[in-house]
Amino acid sequence: MQGRNRNFQILLILSIIAAAFLGNVLIFSALNTDALRASAETETKLLSSILVNSVESRITPEGIRAGQLPDALAGLPAVEAGRFWITAPDGSVYYDSGGGGLSPPGDASGDSAAFWTGRKGIFFLSEDCCMIRPLYGGEFFLTLLHQGGTFHAIQRRQLSLLLGVDLILMGMMMVLIVNIVLKYRREILRYATTDELTGLCNRKSFNALFGEFMSAEHIPDASLFLLDIDFFKQINDNYGHAAGDHALRMLAERIQAMVRDKNGFAGRWGGDEFIGVLPLPGEEAWSALRELCRVIEALRPEEGFRMTISAGVTPVAAGMPLAKLSEKADAALYESKGGGRNRASLYRGTVAPEAVAEAVKSTVEKAIVRAEAFVLPQKADERPAEPVQPAGAHFGIRLMGYIREHLIRSTILGVRWMAPFVAGGGILIGLAFLFDAASLDLSALTLETRAQFGSITATAALLNRIGSTTFNFMLPIFAGFMAYGIAGEEAFMAGFVGGYMTIDSHSGFIGAMVAGFAAGVLTTELEQFTGWLPRFIRKAAPIILYPVFNLLLMQLVSWLIITPLSTAAGVLFTELLTAAIQKNGVLAGALSAMMMATDMGGILNKVAYQYGVGGLALGSTDVMASVMIGGMVPPIGIFLSMSLFRRKYSEYEWERGPGTLFMGLSFITEGALPYVFTDVFRVIGSSMAGAAVSGGFSMLFGCTLPAPHGGIFVLPVVGHPLLYLIALGAGSLVTAVILGLWKKDCTPEEI
Ligand code: GH3
Ligand code: MG
Repeated sequence: MQGRNRNFQILLILSIIAAAFLGNVLIFSALNTDALRASAETETKLLSSILVNSVESRITPEGIRAGQLPDALAGLPAVEAGRFWITAPDGSVYYDSGGGGLSPPGDASGDSAAFWTGRKGIFFLSEDCCMIRPLYGGEFFLTLLHQGGTFHAIQRRQLSLLLGVDLILMGMMMVLIVNIVLKYRREILRYATTDELTGLCNRKSFNALFGEFMSAEHIPDASLFLLDIDFFKQINDNYGHAAGDHALRMLAERIQAMVRDKNGFAGRWGGDEFIGVLPLPGEEAWSALRELCRVIEALRPEEGFRMTISAGVTPVAAGMPLAKLSEKADAALYESKGGGRNRASLYRGTVAPEAVAEAVKSTVEKAIVRAEAFVLPQKADERPAEPVQPAGAHFGIRLMGYIREHLIRSTILGVRWMAPFVAGGGILIGLAFLFDAASLDLSALTLETRAQFGSITATAALLNRIGSTTFNFMLPIFAGFMAYGIAGEEAFMAGFVGGYMTIDSHSGFIGAMVAGFAAGVLTTELEQFTGWLPRFIRKAAPIILYPVFNLLLMQLVSWLIITPLSTAAGVLFTELLTAAIQKNGVLAGALSAMMMATDMGGILNKVAYQYGVGGLALGSTDVMASVMIGGMVPPIGIFLSMSLFRRKYSEYEWERGPGTLFMGLSFITEGALPYVFTDVFRVIGSSMAGAAVSGGFSMLFGCTLPAPHGGIFVLPVVGHPLLYLIALGAGSLVTAVILGLWKKDCTPEEI
């Protein structure tokens, strides 16, 4: 058994290593070819070459350092060392590693042939070698290179970054897989060794435990007992199987408590029979079992039945097999049954099983009469039925019923299905920002290129595409499962499509909630309606009627409720923001940031964001800074709140914490959504407050942001980055504290 386990573990680790190796080979081969080349091509935009007529100017590297530049270059500010090289007409490359009076001349177009020659050369020429070579006459290119680097530099950076990410992912994967395997192993072991109903050992594992017990060097004085519920069949017959199961569980709990108390062990022998060992001499074990009989008799379960047990105890003698011992305990148990039940007997070597059987037979009738006497008259079908909605209840009343009964449960269901989409999509988009941030010098990019941040390099673009695709499923999945939670599988499709419609209407999570809820309610109403239809139509309803009607009704809901409301909100807030921007900068900062945190991806979020982007085009970068900070506060604030107020969050919420923080840092506000859905008012309220504080501070500190995306990855281009971080921290803390104080403690079940 041990050997087999070890082989299994070795096989598992080998397969993980093989899979990781294969995955990496695939990643690296993809990187080394098209994806990276495409990155480098994008990067060439950062490089520029200037045609210099050197016949007249004859500049040398020393000359450049000394500031003797051709007219075309004169007047440009200084560049850092090693940022340019010169390619002569014969293709030889001259590289200056000292400081010079040059800088990239904006968007001057590069000559790719010369550039590629130069790019190759730069890595092979040493500093000294460059310095001593004379320059040729004729036309040559002076290529200015800024931080973006070359193909190889990008390659190196991206590969090392990928390697880092890859190692972390592999580590996480290993931990995850090992965890899962261990967990399943534990589960399987548990299934194999415990009795599902009572949680006690099953017969097989009791045998094993008993074997271990008997093979110990020193066996203490011990006794084996067997016990059986009296007239258990009658409990089943009169109160139903569920009550019977409850009786078994209650008894198992008491047995477990007794053996735990006395350092023994017990198991379910089968049916209503239990077996156990107490490390006590016969007389003492017998008295423990008599006490147990009293405890069981005193139980008053809510179903109304009463229960007694009969037990048999026998002292354990070293070397005696379990079969023999259990036979003796069984004989004693029969003695208890024959003696009128509800008692324990100690086997003293005098009871012959045949005699006991006879005794049982003779007392059966009497005992049955007794049993009937203590089974209370109330029958299972006389118990009060579950309250039901009156069939013809008014639609409004039924609607309130749905809201109370279904909204919370179905929202939680929706969140559970949506959360992986939020985390998967959000983290991939965040990684795309990380890739671009690590590969490029943001400050050297034009505004237009910066707008593409997160998909400038090919790797980032790929990650971004996968992330955004995943993200798009988030609200449809939520709405679909919310509808499913309310009205079952017939409602799923309508909810899903309704959720999808919110993407176009920019109605965000509020739209998705309305869509999911509406789909659920509509399906339930349709079900009521189809109840009146002829049978053959009713049968086809789930396949034809529900989908078609649901979709049409959902479209109506979208047209009549969701879209007009979100459009109106958009117009109102556009006006508000315009007025605020004209009146007071700090107020505008607070308002735009607050809007970002209000509907998290909905219309207000879009309005504020568009305002920020519009400002950038006009050269105003402060609103964008407030907008970005407002979008970052909710997920970061929630994470902080979970860290500060641990008791208020369930294990499930807590597990999503790190991903939420990463999304917050990446300006992916939607990371907060799983928390929003289950506690809308508190989470949105505290997020709005925190975001307003951050946005106001950002504006007050004069922070600027000339990039429309990126979270902390664009910090290098933020004006007053330190103050910006302080503003972010302050707002997040406000959210965390308000949310933490406002939220209720988690119930034990939620934890
Ligand atoms: P006695 O006092 O002679 O033991 O009478 P009894 O009615 O308890 O008779 P017996 O022990 O033969 O009855 C066992 C009953 O236990 C029969 C079976 O339907 C029921 N049973 C066995 N396993 C389960 C179970 O997992 N759940 C429930 N509810 N009933 C069970
Ligand atoms: Mg029984």
